[in-house]
Parts: sequence; structure tokens; C-alpha cells
Amino acid sequence: MTPRPHALVIPYPAQGHVIPLLELAHALVARGFTVTFANSEFNHHRVVAAMADTTTKDGSTGLLDRIRLVAVPDGMDPGEDRSNLVRLTVVMAEHMAPRVEDLIRRSHGETTEDDDTGDGPITCMVADYNLGTWALDVARRTRIKSAAIWPASAAVLASILSIHRLIHENIIDSNDGSALTQATFQLSPDMPVMHTAHLAWNCIGSHEGQEALFRYLIGGVRAVEKCDFILCNSFHGAEHATFARFPKVLPIGPLLTGERRGKAVGHFWRPEDDACISWLDAQPARSVVYVAFGSFTMFDSRQFQELALGLELCGRPFLWVVRPDIVHGDVHDYPDGFLGRVVGAGGRGMVVAWSPQQRVLAHPAVACFVSHCGWNSTMEGVRNGVPFLAWPYFADQFVNKVYICDVWKVGLEAEANESGVITKEHIAGRVEELMSDGGIRERVEAMKKVSHESVKEGGSSHDNFDMFVEAMKT
Ligand code: UDP
Repeated sequence: MTPRPHALVIPYPAQGHVIPLLELAHALVARGFTVTFANSEFNHHRVVAAMADTTTKDGSTGLLDRIRLVAVPDGMDPGEDRSNLVRLTVVMAEHMAPRVEDLIRRSHGETTEDDDTGDGPITCMVADYNLGTWALDVARRTRIKSAAIWPASAAVLASILSIHRLIHENIIDSNDGSALTQATFQLSPDMPVMHTAHLAWNCIGSHEGQEALFRYLIGGVRAVEKCDFILCNSFHGAEHATFARFPKVLPIGPLLTGERRGKAVGHFWRPEDDACISWLDAQPARSVVYVAFGSFTMFDSRQFQELALGLELCGRPFLWVVRPDIVHGDVHDYPDGFLGRVVGAGGRGMVVAWSPQQRVLAHPAVACFVSHCGWNSTMEGVRNGVPFLAWPYFADQFVNKVYICDVWKVGLEAEANESGVITKEHIAGRVEELMSDGGIRERVEAMKKVSHESVKEGGSSHDNFDMFVEAMKT
């Protein structure tokens, strides 16, 4: 009997990567695979701790419906700052590569140590593109098939794959990737306009960080040229111009991130499911403003207060995700009396630390999504036909905002005043505009339909996934 195909799936250690890659793992299981899912040790503990009791939780082995969660140390000290992504990326490459290689070799019976995957030989690897080249190199050394997955927009991946062209056209500097004379560029006339200042390496904060990341990404371009598949959590209808120009990038989305009920989703915080859903059940259809800024975005306390007051001024019900670490210094400085007036018994609003976002966006009571435009949130909003108030902060979120507001036209932009603040009046005004814009509603409903068709049997993302699965199996 041929052994069951066994995939090793390795996410980049951030929330917006673990969720879509765990969804990919569920999709592989549905096609007959066994999966070993290798989180960094730090995130492994968070994911296991955050699993609701309704999931098939098995803290000792992490075995979930033929997905085994395993922990690999990332090489950083226990208390070290893991939001320093450049350092994390570099340290991980050094420490995780030998551990992952060992995991694969043990599963092949090549060492005398026990195979702690326990599910037969690992036959292929799906590695997050953002890990860099080391994971794909390990796959080559251990002679297993491999694919890279890019969990953000194809347009942003295209900008990275075009680094050499951008250098050649004098758009960026060849040493550190910084912007030269042009503020914006377009890779092809139908692709979104991109800002050189928003390129992945140019918004990392420090100059050393920028240069290190730039060098790292150049290395990644070479590795990916050798790779058989580059999967992308997107769909043709969303980015057809990019897929036409970069045919090696295969859309398999939108992945059903967070949608599988009763299955491990990969949250880092425990979502307040019951509280959110029963509160939404009590609200009128299409009345609620859902406000969430993903797992990383942080506010200064002035903007945090202005957002609170804007939600109050709106006069509509709202569900606001205020992560424990959303404000610098971790102090949630609500405006005086805000919680008493607007939140809690008799108030119009609800505040939670982490939501089951997928279930929230699918709820009929939700009218619009005030979002930082992370790619998962963008795909989740589109997939559920929810109009956006686009409020990007960082990195690829700016390109995603261009898609939302200028290309797909399914949202409006939150604009800062001359002091850099998005005011309460602006927030309330924009929400009203969004609620009454029939064109936006129509377009986002149309995109919802296209996105659903692409993942249905016979749809383009479905076909791509089939092709990929067959290639990995043989
Ligand atoms: N998310 C969630 N509950 C929340 C906020 C976010 O489940 O309260 C999920 C969201 O559904 C998405 C992921 O966290 O799948 C965030 O990814 P995204 O790419 O949107 O943003 P990032 O966190 O990477 O900035």
C-alpha cells in the first residue's frame, strides 16, 4: 500500500501567516494528506493555549484531525522582542533549518532517534515564502517535493520578484533598495500603483533593518526561481493583471481562513466567540460597524481616543477589537466616561480583546469593516461582501488599500488631517458615506460572488489547488 502523502507545513511566525497556513493544512487533510504543522515554539504554545475547548484539543501531542502541531525553537531568548521581525527572520534561518531537517530525516528513519511526527515519512513541504530560502534548501537536501506559499497579495509578491527590474529602471537603489527619484511606479498598466516608500523593505523602520531585509529578499528571489510552485492566497478575479504577468504564481484563494467551525484555526489569543455572536444576533441586519486592526497594528493614545469618539459620534452599533497590546505602553486610555456611555449594558457598542473575525464578517448584522487592510482581513471582507473603511498602517496594507479603494472600489479611505490624525468627525462621516453608497455595496457583492466561484469545484483557484495536490502526491 502506498503511504499516505505527508506534508510538512511551515508558517512564518506571525498571526497573519499562521492562520492561512493552518487553513491550507486543513485543505490538504481534506485531500487525503497527513500534515505536520511546524510553528515556532513561542507561537506553538500560544496557539495551543488559545484553542477553544470546542476544538479537538490535545495539548500533549497537538494532533488535530490528522494535523500534528509541532514546536521548533526560533533561536531567540524567551523574553526577546519578537516584533523585531528582521532579527527574528535572521535568527530563525540559523536555528530552525537544522531542527526542521532533523524532523524530516527522523520521519524517514534516517536517524536512530524516534520519529516524533509519528505519521510516516514526510513526503513534501509547503513553506511560507517569507521564511526565506532555508526551508526550500532543506527540502532539496532531504529530497522531498516543495512549494512556497505567499499569504499576501500577488501584487506585493510581484514587487519583490521585480527587484532586479526596479534596480535596472533606477526606481530603487541596488545596495539597500531605498527609493531613488520616483515616488510611485506600476509594474504593468493594469496593476495597482505602488509607492516606493511602501515597498516591504522600505517601511521596516531602521536603515540596518532595511538593508538586511532587502538582501534577504534578493536571496529569496533566486530560491523561488527554482521552486515548482508558488501558491498565493488570492484569486484571479481580484488580481488578474498580476497573475497574467507572473504566471508562476498560482492563486488558490481566498482560503477559508478561520471559517472551519470546531477545527483549530491558529489564533494567538482566545477569541470571545459567544459574547460576539450572541451580541450580533441581537442587532438589526446590516447595522453594525466592525472595527479590527489585525494582530500587529498599534495606536498612539491620541488616535485611539479619536477612534473611540468617532465610533460614539457615529451613533451606530459597533463591535471593536481592542487587543491587549494595541496601544503603545499597553494602556487603554479610553476617553472620559466612554465605556460607561457607549459600551456595556444599555450601550450601543461592544469591545472585545479578540474576535472570531470570520464568523463576525459572515454575520448578517455587520454593515461595514473599519480595517487596517491586512491581506487576510481584506480577503475575508471581500469573501463576505462587507464594504471597507480602509485605514492602513504598515507595509503591504497600503497596496491593499489601493486595491480596495481604487481598483475594486469596494471601500473608502480614512484620511488623516494636516496633524496626521484621523478625526472623529471624519470617521463618523466616512462610515455614513459608506453605509449609503449603493455602488460600493453592489461591487463588493459582485466580488463576493466571484471569490466564491473561484474556490468552488471547476473554479480557477480550485483547479490550481487540484493540480498542486496531484503534483505533491506523486
Ligand atoms: N483576526 C481574528 N480576530 C481579531 C482580529 C483578527 O481572528 O479580532 C484574524 C483575522 O481574521 C485574520 C488575521 O487575524 O485572519 C489577521 O491577519 P491580517 O492579514 O488581516 O493582519 P495582520 O495581523 O497580519 O496585520
